Amino acid sequence: MASDPTQPLTTIKGIGPGRAELFARLGLFSLNDLLEFLPRSYLDYSRPKKIADIEDGEAAAVRIGFIGPAKLFRSKTKVTVTTVSIGDETGNMTASWFNQPYIMKAVPKEPGGYIVGTMDRRSGARFLRASFMKELPGVVPVYPLVKGLNQASVRKAVKAALDACLDGVEETLPKRIITEYGLIPLREAISEVHFPKDPETLKKARRRLAFEDAAVLTIVLEKLRSVKKSTSGISFNTVGILGEFLPLLPFEPTDAQYGVMNEIALDMASDQPMSRLIQGDVGSGKTVLALYAMYVAAKNGYQSVLMAPTEILAEQHFKQLRHFFGERAAILTGHMTAKERREALAGIADGSTIAVCGTHALIENGVEFSNLGVVITDEQHRFGVRQRAAIGKKGEAPDTLIMSATPIPRTLSLILYGDLDISTVRGMPPGRKPAVTKLVPERKRADMYRYIEELIADERIQAYVVCPMIEENEELEGVRSAESLYEELRGNLSLRIGLLHGRMKNGEKDELMERFRKGELDMLVSTTVIEVGVDVPNACIMVIESAERFGLAQLHQLRGRVGRGDKQSYCFLLTGSGSKTALERLRFLTETSDGFRIAEKDLELRGPGELIGMRQHGISEFGAAALAMDIETLRLAKECAASLLSGPEDESAKIIEKAMRKYARSLENVAIN
Ligand code: ADP
Ligand code: MG
Repeated sequence: MASDPTQPLTTIKGIGPGRAELFARLGLFSLNDLLEFLPRSYLDYSRPKKIADIEDGEAAAVRIGFIGPAKLFRSKTKVTVTTVSIGDETGNMTASWFNQPYIMKAVPKEPGGYIVGTMDRRSGARFLRASFMKELPGVVPVYPLVKGLNQASVRKAVKAALDACLDGVEETLPKRIITEYGLIPLREAISEVHFPKDPETLKKARRRLAFEDAAVLTIVLEKLRSVKKSTSGISFNTVGILGEFLPLLPFEPTDAQYGVMNEIALDMASDQPMSRLIQGDVGSGKTVLALYAMYVAAKNGYQSVLMAPTEILAEQHFKQLRHFFGERAAILTGHMTAKERREALAGIADGSTIAVCGTHALIENGVEFSNLGVVITDEQHRFGVRQRAAIGKKGEAPDTLIMSATPIPRTLSLILYGDLDISTVRGMPPGRKPAVTKLVPERKRADMYRYIEELIADERIQAYVVCPMIEENEELEGVRSAESLYEELRGNLSLRIGLLHGRMKNGEKDELMERFRKGELDMLVSTTVIEVGVDVPNACIMVIESAERFGLAQLHQLRGRVGRGDKQSYCFLLTGSGSKTALERLRFLTETSDGFRIAEKDLELRGPGELIGMRQHGISEFGAAALAMDIETLRLAKECAASLLSGPEDESAKIIEKAMRKYARSLENVAIN
């Protein structure tokens, strides 16, 4: 009899309230959470490796062909080192242990059996953190951790949850589908993804889970789409409006922009609500498209709203709205006086305001529109189902536009945004200079910073320095945290340097950004918090530390933060990596500034899981099998979901139920059936 999977972790033997709290910090509360807690990676000990073939840093199992006598050294400071020499037909290595004198007893006297550990080749072949095994341990899961928990305790807990609940896991897909798409059963997939028999089965397990997630997502999006299809929206009159709009622009739109304006006009004229995603690189000129939709609305006597992720961006948009709508434009942000806010709200409520922009506050607070016709969200490059479902609640089936600066290859966006129509703005308006991008090896670090120091002094420009986010438990050699780099640079450069990181309060962040914007700082060292919505025209230099740790799309996004003004901009990708593939990946970025080509390359090299915040789309929550997820599997899952939805009800009941349960919170505002 399987246990109830919703039971708390304290029902597992050995997990008391204290331990449970540690697990809670990993987001694990119930037995089911453990089943769905996917390993971060795996160590493959399913086959022994030859000593000569083990790379530096690689974890491997070695069949013991020769073993010397174990030796114990004790230093004056009482540190002990145990060493033993191990060999096979390809070579020798030394296994060593610090402060583990008891290991002496575990060292076998005879060859045979296996030793498992991590190779360190910096000073000869040394095998670290090694242990002896009679049998090969197979493929071992590696879970994300928090301080106080180790791999062994998480593995044990997962094992206990599997023992208790696996038998109760219900199959979500009909037999026919499982056979047709070559899937393994759900129960087997869950078990294998934690403790795989071998690498092949692991692959099948991840594929099944990724397939399941993508099918679930597709079902939810299809439901959303059909709800939208069946509601009738506003049919705007669009005839002749473009001719009035164009003379108000300071430039001639590009062909790409004209194309999208045409799509918008068709959507707005139709009596189904517009539901469109506009994708285009940073600087590709999406704002004018939003303005056009707002202009059409206004000409039809309807209000429109443009929501931006930051106040800075909202202010920028407001300037444009003033130009088009004069006194009938308004802005709403968190930083207004009570009086300003009251006036803005009054104008929005009585309809004297026709076009509004602002931050998230617009949607969340009780803002009442008189007749809202168009809702636009800008720069929502991490836009999940939840937000999409909640948007547009302010009007009666208003037309909606979402503008995203993260180009996603078409194949992928069709799956992730299955409920939306998609427009793409390719290319850039004429006259934009792409950033000069250079790959800088670690040994040139000091030279590079000297050069930047000079550039800043000569050109009177400013620089961002971005460091990768380092997790609490990660120990990474050669990767600098923002804090330590900040100290280092402050000591070495005669520049005014600021430090911005995620743990700062919002007020502090804004203040620092403001100082940078005013030019009171020459250089801003930060984590990736600057990724969204920062616009400092005088910041023309971007340095990215440990660039190999970022995805190409993310690097491109970061690079988009510079080159907003007239001056030449620069992007330096600093890397200590010697890996050929890593360097090739980074070099690609020095050769192109086309976000779509970069996104496609990223997809090809790393798979979709890494490309965008899959979690936002609900994909990685269970199937962070994303790691192994390939686009073809996603496509098949989408096709399968569509066929289930149009097939007999008893075949799709289970997976639809799962979809509704998983997305319950996102969908609560949407009447579905
Ligand atoms: P994004 O797509 O990042 O929102 P913007 O809409 O802010 O880009 O446009 C970036 C800059 O390019 C703005 O200064 C805008 O005025 C300018 N721009 C947009 N379209 C054109 C065009 N067709 N010709 C010249 N400049 C343009
Ligand atoms: Mg924009």
